[in-house]
Amino acid sequence: MTVRIEIDPALVEERIMTLSAIGACAETGVCRRTYSPEWVAAQELVRDWIDAAGLTARYDAVGNLWGRLEGSDGGKAVVSGSHIDSQIPGGRYDGALGIIAALTAIESLQAQFGQPKRPLEVISFCEEEGSAFSGARFWGSRAITGRISPEDPDGMIGHDGITMSDKMRSLGYDPARIPDAMRTDIEAFIELHIEQGPILEQQEIPVGIVNVINGSQGALVEVVGESNHAGARPMDMRRDPLVGAAEMVLAVNRNAVSMGRPAVSTVGRMLVEPNGSAIIPKKVTFSIDARHNDVEALRILNEAHERAVHEIAERNGLVVNWSFRPHLPPCVSDPDIVSLLEEAAKEQGISALTMPSGALHDTQRMSEVARVAMIFVQSLDGRSHTPEEFSSIEHCIEGIRLLAAGLHKLAY
Ligand SMILES: [Zn+2]
Repeated sequence: MTVRIEIDPALVEERIMTLSAIGACAETGVCRRTYSPEWVAAQELVRDWIDAAGLTARYDAVGNLWGRLEGSDGGKAVVSGSHIDSQIPGGRYDGALGIIAALTAIESLQAQFGQPKRPLEVISFCEEEGSAFSGARFWGSRAITGRISPEDPDGMIGHDGITMSDKMRSLGYDPARIPDAMRTDIEAFIELHIEQGPILEQQEIPVGIVNVINGSQGALVEVVGESNHAGARPMDMRRDPLVGAAEMVLAVNRNAVSMGRPAVSTVGRMLVEPNGSAIIPKKVTFSIDARHNDVEALRILNEAHERAVHEIAERNGLVVNWSFRPHLPPCVSDPDIVSLLEEAAKEQGISALTMPSGALHDTQRMSEVARVAMIFVQSLDGRSHTPEEFSSIEHCIEGIRLLAAGLHKLAY
């Protein structure tokens, strides 16, 4: 018979509230930029918790915080955790819940089942959101996979004008040692995170098991026309790039709608030049963010966007220049870990939905060095990246119980 895994709701709730008080902003918000005093205090708090749990705590070369429980048989580690930095402002759950979940799960397993066979580790990633340095998204997990070189922080300027290398040195981190953060001894990584979308709530299911993280393709589109007087230029003699861009935005939206879920495409940024009310614009620059969990479907979606933009430009006498951001392929979870989690959910009586992730996560990066999967916890109204984000303690506990059951299967 399967043993029911118990997680203490009062402990989890207290940890969520204590951690969210560090860098608290607005009513229920959190503002924790990487390497800020709040960030240091939050990492130190988690370090205290790790120490108190009897795990061995250490910071790596970029400031990721690890807590390790040795396994009796040794071997590669089974790891869980999430990020400590936040959006500005963010909420109490994004990232933080995954760290609390991992530590509480490992502590509870140790109390209920003793020492594991394989090493179990919790990680608090130093930077996921690009909260302090816009080019530093997934900084912590990229360092673990060996994707960051010692020179990279020199070119990264923070919102306060200080380079990342200076910031690192001020906290005692030597950029020359960044390669030391690399790990090649991780067997499996499971990240628990709030869903940040409305699917679980819509289906009235507390917990999700992520089988794929959507891939994304970003682009900046520059549409060039001809600037002229808004009064003197007749309508039939204009080459107005904003009118063209407006049509392009609609086309991008329609392409994703007609492809159906899980295809999404967003134009979230637009720059109009010179941006004067009595001037026909000269140039419009806008972003396209397209995502899908299937590589071929993502390619087709992007082709549809490119075709539409060029057709509209030609029809309106406009010139288009593209610059593409690096393509991020979909990240498929390890099928064995997904089925292991599905089985664990059944055994523990947890209602769980196997689903894709629309948002990007550290897990994507960790898949370069380990077998990965994710667990989602239902988000109220599907909201996130706002102080209003909320997940009920009941749903959090179901998620953490599932995480613990999965770690148990992998490490005991
Ligand atoms: Zn997050």
